[in-house]
Amino acid sequence: MHTTVMTPIQALQKYFGYSEFRHQQEAIIQHILNGQDVLTLMPTGGGKSLCYQLPAMLMDGLTIVISPLIALMKDQVDSLNVNGIPAAFLNSTQSPDEQQHITDQLKKNKIKLLYLAPERLFGQGSNLIAFLKSLPVCLIAIDEAHCISQWGHDFRPEYLMLAGLKREFPKIPVIALTATADNLTRKDILEKLDLRNPAEFVSSFNRANITYRVLPKKNSFNQLLAFLDARKEDSGIIYCLSRKSTEELAGDLKSEGFLAEAYHAGMDNATKARNQEAFLRDDVKIIVATIAFGMGINKSNVRYVVHVDLPKNIEGYYQETGRAGRDGLPSDALLLYSYADANKLQRFARIEGNEDQSAIMLKKLDDMVKYCQLQTCRRLYLMRYFDEDFSDNCGSCDICLSEFDKFDATLIAQKALSAVFRLNERFGSNYVIDFLRGSRSEKIRDEHKQLKTYGIGADISKPEWHRYLRELVTLGYLSTTDDAYPVLKLTGKSNSVLKGQEKVELIASQTTEERQQEAIPYEAGLLSELRLTRRDIAINQNVPAYIILSDAALMEMATYLPQTLDELRLVSGFGEIKLARYGREFLTPIKNYCIKHGLSSRIKQKSIRRERKVQRESPNGKLRSSDTKIETFNLYRSGKTVSEIAAERGLAATTIEGHLSYFVQMGEIDVLEFVKEEKIPVIKDAIESYGYERLSPLKEVLGDNYSYGEIRAVIGWMNRNIN
Ligand code: ADP
Ligand code: ZN
Repeated sequence: MHTTVMTPIQALQKYFGYSEFRHQQEAIIQHILNGQDVLTLMPTGGGKSLCYQLPAMLMDGLTIVISPLIALMKDQVDSLNVNGIPAAFLNSTQSPDEQQHITDQLKKNKIKLLYLAPERLFGQGSNLIAFLKSLPVCLIAIDEAHCISQWGHDFRPEYLMLAGLKREFPKIPVIALTATADNLTRKDILEKLDLRNPAEFVSSFNRANITYRVLPKKNSFNQLLAFLDARKEDSGIIYCLSRKSTEELAGDLKSEGFLAEAYHAGMDNATKARNQEAFLRDDVKIIVATIAFGMGINKSNVRYVVHVDLPKNIEGYYQETGRAGRDGLPSDALLLYSYADANKLQRFARIEGNEDQSAIMLKKLDDMVKYCQLQTCRRLYLMRYFDEDFSDNCGSCDICLSEFDKFDATLIAQKALSAVFRLNERFGSNYVIDFLRGSRSEKIRDEHKQLKTYGIGADISKPEWHRYLRELVTLGYLSTTDDAYPVLKLTGKSNSVLKGQEKVELIASQTTEERQQEAIPYEAGLLSELRLTRRDIAINQNVPAYIILSDAALMEMATYLPQTLDELRLVSGFGEIKLARYGREFLTPIKNYCIKHGLSSRIKQKSIRRERKVQRESPNGKLRSSDTKIETFNLYRSGKTVSEIAAERGLAATTIEGHLSYFVQMGEIDVLEFVKEEKIPVIKDAIESYGYERLSPLKEVLGDNYSYGEIRAVIGWMNRNIN
C-alpha cells in the first residue's frame, strides 16, 4: 500500500489539497508518527480530523477512529473517499451484507481508516475487538473525547468503555481530540483513557472569523427576521431550548418564505435524516434545532448560528457557535438574551440529590449569564474562559463594534413615527415604507399622496427602512398588531420622540458594508455556475455538495480564475485525486466564462493577498476599537465633559458614556467621578433586581434623578471584577 517516504507537508498537498498546516497540526502529526500518545484541544472547525487522517496515510496499517455519532462517520467517510482515501465505517444502520463487505476489505488491508461507535467496540457480545486485534492497527483516534468525562457538558456513558482500549492495544498510539475541555475535563480524559506520557496540544480557541453578538431578547421573532433579512442566501442554524419551539419557529419562518426545517431528538428517524440531509445539500437553508443537532455536522458553509434561548453553559455555546464558518469565511453568532431565560435555566440546573453537580451547573450558567451582560469585548471573555491569553479587544464582537455602528437616528425615527401617525395607524410596514419613499404606485391612495409626510424618507432604501422599522418596534417606539397583516401602531414612547424630547439610536448598516469591502471581488456569475457544476458532481456521487468542495474553494476559483490544472492545484482543497477526478469539470466553466468576458487568470494575486492578510492581522489592526475608547478617555482626562466630547467627536453621548464606563470597569476611572456616593446603592439595587441588559427599564425605575451616564458608570463599576 502506501509507503512512508512522503513528508507530512507533501501528504497534506497530495491528499487534502492544502498548502499549509493550521494551528499545531504539524507538531501533533509528528508526535503520532513518533508513536506517542497525544491529547489535542482545538476549536470546532480548527482542523482536528486531519491530525489523525494524515498520519493514517503516512503509516502502514489501519487507523481506528472512535466517534460518537453515525451522521459524523458517514460525513467523514464520504469526504475521505472523495479525496481518494479508502475509509469505511461499521454501524448498526448497515445491512449484514454491507458489514461483511467491509470486513472483507479490512482483511485484505484495503481500508486505511475505520470509523466506529464506542459501544460497537466494547458492547456486549461484540467480537469486534478480537477481529481488530488480528489486523495491523497502527493508530487509534478518539474524537469528541470530552464525552468520557462526567465533568464535561456532554457526558456519554458508553465512552467510559474506552478505558479498555489501552489494555487491548497497549503498543498503539492513541490520539484523543476535543473542542471543549476545561482543565478538569482535560485531566479526566487523560486518566480515563489511561494515556501514556501524552503530549498535550492546546490550540488557540479563537475563531477570528466569527462575530459574536448578544441582543436583549424582546419580540424575538422580529429580531430574528431583521437578522435573517440580510442573510437570505445563507445557511444557518437556529438553536432553541425546547422541541416544541423548534417546530413552531420553523413553521413561522416557512410562512415568511424561508427554507427552514426543524430538528430535534423527539422526531422520528426518517424525518430527522431527511431534514438533516436537505440542510447538508442546501435544499434547506435554515435548521431550527435543539442542541441534539450539530454534533458532527461538518457542513462548512454555515454562515450563522443563532441562539434564541440562553444556552446552559459557555462550553456548549462556544461549540454550537463554532459550527458557523468552518470554511474560514466571515460568519455570525447571535444570541438573544433575557433575564427570564436565565431564571428558568437556574431552576433546571439543580439536580436533586447531587449538590456537587448542581453547583457546577449553576456556576456554568452564571458564567453564561455574565457573558450576555458584558460591556467589554466578548471574545476576550470567551478566551479567558478557556484559560487562553488574549490581551487585546477583538474589534469584531458587538461590544467592540458598537462604537462604530450606533448612530443618532432621531430624525429617521421621527419620519417613521409621523408617517404611522398621518396614516392613522392603519397600515402595515410595506405600505408605510412605500408612503415614506414617495412611491408612485397605485397602491398608495391619492389622499395620502397629498400629505406632507409623503416621500420624506425617499433617501433611504426599502430594505433599510424595513430594518429600521423592526428596530423601532424592538426598541418599543412602535408596535405591531397580531394580525396576519400586522399594522404599525404608535406606543406610549412615540410621543416624546415626535416632540423631539427623546433621542433615538439605531444600528447602522455599516458593518455589512465594511464586510463587503473586505470581501474578495469575485465573479458572481461564475460563482453560480461553479455551484451548479459542484451540485451536478455531488448528485452524481451521491454526497452533499460541500463534500465535493467547500464554498471557500468555489469562491477562490471565482476570484482567481485558474486556467490550467496546475493553477487549479493552488486553489485550497484540490488534492491530487480531487484534481484528477473533478479538475477539468471545474475548469470548463471558468475558461468559458473568461473567454466570454475577456478575463484571464488572476492566480498570481493569490500569494500577494496572503501576505496582505497576514499584515492585516497584526496587533495594530486590532487596536481600532480600543483606540476610539482611548481617544475619549484622553479628552475626558483633559477636563472635557461627556457632551463636549460627544460634540467634538461627532458621536452620541451614550457612546461616549459607554467608552468611559469601560474605563470605570477597568479601574482607570473612579466611579465617584460620575456618580455621587449616596446614589450608588440605589442604582446597584435596581441593577441587581432588573439586570442590566437594557438600560431604559432601569432608567424608568430610577426616575429623573438618575442619568443614563450614572447608570452606565455603576454597571461598569459592578462589572469590574468579571475578568
Ligand atoms: P474540527 O473537527 O476541528 O471541527 P475539521 O477537521 O472538520 O474541524 O476541519 C474543518 C475544515 O478545515 C475542514 O473542511 C478541513 O478540510 C479544513 N482544514 C483542515 N486542515 C486544514 C488546513 N491545514 N488547511 C486548510 N483547510 C484545512
Ligand atoms: Zn470584541
